[in-house]
Amino acid sequence: MDHTDLYIDGAFRPASDGGRFDVLNPADETVLASVASATTADADAALDAAGAAFAEWAGRTPRARSQILRRAFELMTERIDEFARLITLENGKALSDAKGEAAYAAEFFRWYAEEAVRAEGHLGHAPASGARILVHQKPAGIAVLVTPWNFPAAMGTRKIAPALAAGCPVIIKPASETPLTMLALMPLLEEAGVPKGIVNVLPSRSSGTIVARMMGDPRVRVISFTGSTEVGRKLLHTAADTILKPAMELGGNAPFIVFEDADLEAAADGLMVAKMRNGGEACTAANRIYVHKAVEERFTEIFTAKMAALKMGNGLDDGVGLGPLVNADTRDKVAGFVDDAVAKGATVRLGGERPGGTGFYYPATVLTGITPNALLVDDEIFGPVAAIQTFDDEADVIARANDTEYGLVAYLYTGDFKRGLKVSETLDYGMIGLNRGLVSDPAAPFGGTKQSGLGREGGKEGMAEFMETQYISAAW
Ligand code: NAP
Repeated sequence: MDHTDLYIDGAFRPASDGGRFDVLNPADETVLASVASATTADADAALDAAGAAFAEWAGRTPRARSQILRRAFELMTERIDEFARLITLENGKALSDAKGEAAYAAEFFRWYAEEAVRAEGHLGHAPASGARILVHQKPAGIAVLVTPWNFPAAMGTRKIAPALAAGCPVIIKPASETPLTMLALMPLLEEAGVPKGIVNVLPSRSSGTIVARMMGDPRVRVISFTGSTEVGRKLLHTAADTILKPAMELGGNAPFIVFEDADLEAAADGLMVAKMRNGGEACTAANRIYVHKAVEERFTEIFTAKMAALKMGNGLDDGVGLGPLVNADTRDKVAGFVDDAVAKGATVRLGGERPGGTGFYYPATVLTGITPNALLVDDEIFGPVAAIQTFDDEADVIARANDTEYGLVAYLYTGDFKRGLKVSETLDYGMIGLNRGLVSDPAAPFGGTKQSGLGREGGKEGMAEFMETQYISAAW
């Protein structure tokens, strides 16, 4: 691996205390790299670098920032295969998924190159005093970005691109399972023209300590986090101390509803994407699948055949559609969910057996007859397990779909578009896939309601997370 040190002030360097940790390849459990583990002294150095670089970057014209982001998009697009390989090596996902992720990650640079020049303001006339009300957007300040392991490239660029477009410097704390992709992106950003100090990367085994240190620094004004609801809740408590602007992309428990009038082939294809993209390790993964009783048997047959056709193996190998899970804990948790559901009455239609040997593998699995008390009904499965339940009444399935503390994304398939829109409005979710199994799009506001988060990433909304509104009351 070329880059395994911290990236601070435009240069790679070891941790202040020389500490390092291992990153494993989930396909064979070998050590891929030994990576520097940032300390609080390193966090302070990154804060100083970002603080020193802020004013000059924020003072550049929007077009100047836009051109650098556009160049980053072009460079990353040229190197999709290189990034995809690295993503597969550290995360395990199939190369086809990794290529999809790398292309999606690059698109955030293109989208925010286009948005950088569109920060809007307005001019009003104060009704009583006659003064003018000038409203404009300013970069908020240093942003601390904390990202998960399931999309090592895209969860980073989805935050870096809008922050840079807005004029903010950033310090990224990538997940310890997958820090290599973010580190590999840094030379590319340098080549694109990002000045030193504007993007810093701090892998660390002491995440809680270094993130808390940075959040306590008055120069930091934004905490943008993607990960579990549990950690997000902790960070919101910490953010309260310095009244930091939070953007939280947290867990999900997506319902996937197949109505009796749906095109079953299309719905099964949609479910393959909603369930199996990334081997099920996605916050947007279909977790509770509700199929109308009238079509359950037919739908389960079509879907199970598609699941059975997926080849499991090392993500780098030809034809593999399902790689290993990211680590042993995740694999054991998934196996535990299946065993629990089966003990409570579910039927295994495919898979369900954990293979022996090395690598954190779990096969594509289809379960039917899920009982309401099965643990996977309330918890994120985060693996290649499709858990099918049935319904026969529209109001009942809507109530069941909404019966969760999460509200990230819901999917529904119906042949009646009017019905689809009506049901969509009653679903308490930040995003809806209507006859689609994929909602992620750099041009759209990604995010959830309830305990799935606060704020949005992507779209116009994503840049607003890194800006403060200022109003000038002017005697005209
Ligand atoms: P996680 O355990 O919450 O970790 C996410 C990040 O937070 C990692 O970088 C982790 O560092 C860091 N972290 C852990 N404890 C921390 C603390 N006390 N203070 C500061 N940082 C801390 O989540 P994960 O297991 O990586 O990812 C899976 C979760 O992410 C799932 O719940 C999934 O739904 C969610 N997710 C949500 C979205 C979305 O957009 N809504 C997208 C993807 C994933 P270490 O790796 O060093 O522990």
